[in-house]
Amino acid sequence: MTDILLAIPCFNEEANVESVYARIKADIDFAGLGIDPEILFIDDGSKDQTVQVVKQLAAAHADVSYICLSRNYGKETAMVAAFDYFHHDAMIMMDGDLQHPPVLVNDMVKLWQAGFEDVYAKRNQRAEESWFKIKTSKWFYELLGVLSRTPVTPDAGDFRLLDRKVVLALRQLRETQRYTKGLYNVVGFKKAAIDFDAAPRLHGKTKWSFRSLINLAMEGITSYTTTPLRLSTFLGFLVSGFAFVYMVYVLIKTMIIGPDQSGFPTIVVLILFLGGCILISNGILGEYLARVFMEVKNRPLYFVEEKKTHEADQQKK
Ligand code: UDP
Ligand code: MG
Repeated sequence: MTDILLAIPCFNEEANVESVYARIKADIDFAGLGIDPEILFIDDGSKDQTVQVVKQLAAAHADVSYICLSRNYGKETAMVAAFDYFHHDAMIMMDGDLQHPPVLVNDMVKLWQAGFEDVYAKRNQRAEESWFKIKTSKWFYELLGVLSRTPVTPDAGDFRLLDRKVVLALRQLRETQRYTKGLYNVVGFKKAAIDFDAAPRLHGKTKWSFRSLINLAMEGITSYTTTPLRLSTFLGFLVSGFAFVYMVYVLIKTMIIGPDQSGFPTIVVLILFLGGCILISNGILGEYLARVFMEVKNRPLYFVEEKKTHEADQQKK
């Protein structure tokens, strides 16, 4: 029997938790695969009845456990809580809204047993998503690909099976503002993909707003690559180069023809353009500085309110 931890981050999923558990038990052939599962719900500071529902489930089923975080930290941090708790042979992560069909886990486990260490589900084009969302996400990945040397796999989210080695590696990456999709590629290991169609959310609505997506994109870039810093240096050189050439031209022209009274629009345009460049470079610097500030504080990533887990096996850790 192999021990597998199924980790499910939940934020306001009161209407979904029970169905998630039922589907996991119905669709995954644990006995056939030789798996002894621990199904861990990580409550990420839900404001609804999620905790109560999870507790009832844990009282009724010995394979269910839970960790309740002290507030809402975001899914990325909720997953760190699962990494920290992990003491199994492998870990599967899936969302708590049944957008990740549990039946795929059967194939994931088979690939893992065949020797792959990071088996991820790759989402096919989503029918219900707007053209705008599909395009912007495509551009974001292209941009990230241009800026960074470790590419991020588009459409591969957090529906994954991770081998013990991968979890132990990820556990060592303690940055506070996490871009987990990038981190999977930072740690490496043998990867395999499975295609799937994401189901629509069972109940409730997505926690991602446009603003939080913009923030995630910024965090994705600034935590994953420092190329923007270099780009602003290049931009500085480029603009100064042009300015120097133009200066020589203006000097020579002034000496030969005399001072030029016109040119007010040129000056306004140049000042505005350079002002813009300076502000952008400052902004980029600030983004990275803020990141340094967050990291040097070196705070714990989360605090646990209460938990009930299969700690008895902890010796294996
Ligand atoms: N989630 C979480 N903390 C948050 C936001 C989301 O633990 O602050 C969980 C949520 O309960 C779900 C998963 O992360 O299980 C994915 O969230 P959601 O379905 O809102 O995102 P989407 O599927 O739209 O990308
Ligand atoms: Mg979802």
